Amino acid sequence: MTQAWDELDRELTLWSREGLDLPLWWRDDDAVAPTEALGRLEDLAGELGMPVHLAVIPHSAVAELAETVSQSQHLLPVVHGWAHVNHAPTEAKKSEFGSTRPVDEALNEAEQGIERLQQLFGPALRPMFVPPWNRISAAMLPWLAGLDYAAISTFGPRKRVQAAPGLLQINTHIDPINWHGDRSLLDSGSILTPLVAQLQARRAGSVDRTEPLGLLTHHLIHDEGVWSFCETLLRRLLDGPARPWRFDERIT
Ligand SMILES: [Zn+2]
Repeated sequence: MTQAWDELDRELTLWSREGLDLPLWWRDDDAVAPTEALGRLEDLAGELGMPVHLAVIPHSAVAELAETVSQSQHLLPVVHGWAHVNHAPTEAKKSEFGSTRPVDEALNEAEQGIERLQQLFGPALRPMFVPPWNRISAAMLPWLAGLDYAAISTFGPRKRVQAAPGLLQINTHIDPINWHGDRSLLDSGSILTPLVAQLQARRAGSVDRTEPLGLLTHHLIHDEGVWSFCETLLRRLLDGPARPWRFDERIT
C-alpha cells in the first residue's frame, strides 16, 4: 500500500520539477437531497479549497437541495441524466442514454433534465451533462449543444477536446469504489497504479495533458475508508502540481 503512495509521490515530484501544471477537478454523483453525507462532502471541499461538481438527478431532486447549494461556496450543480433509470437490454451494461434507445426520446429527457435543474438552481447550474453509468450514445452528442449543454463528462481519458461542436469533453479518471465487489474502497494499488501510469502518459505527452484530471466520488455510499482515501489523495495532489479546476460556463 505504502509502495503505491510512494510511486505517486515520485511521479508528482517529477511534475513539480518539470514545472508542469495539473488541473484537477472533482465530480460527485447521484445527489437528490441534502443529507449528512452531503454536509460532509461540502465540509471536505471547504477544507481543501476544492469545488465539487455535484451531479444531480433532475427527476428526483428536491427544492431543499437547491437551498443547500445556494448556501455553499463549493458545490456546483451539473445535470446527471434524467431519472437514473436503466434502459439497456438485460445482459448489456447499464445505461440511461445508451444506443438502443430512440435518439429523440433520449434527447427529450436530456432537455427535461437541464430545464428542471435550471428551474431549481437558476444561474448556479453548470450546463454539463453527466450520463448515468458514464455511458451515452454517440448519436446524441451532436445535439446536446443545441439543448444548452456546453460540456459532457464520462469516465476515462478523453479522445478529443470537443465531443461535438460546442460541447467540451471533461471526463473523470479516478474512481476509488469497488463497484463489482463490496462497494467499499478498492485496494489502494488498484487505484494508484493506473493513476501513476496515466500521469506518466500525460507527462510524456501521449495523453491529453490539458484535460482536467477528474476524481469521481459518490458521497451517499462512502464509508470511512473511502472518505479518508479521497481526502488523502486530494491533499497529496494539491500539495504537489495540482490546482483546483472548476467548470465556469453558464447558460446564456
Ligand atoms: Zn449516477
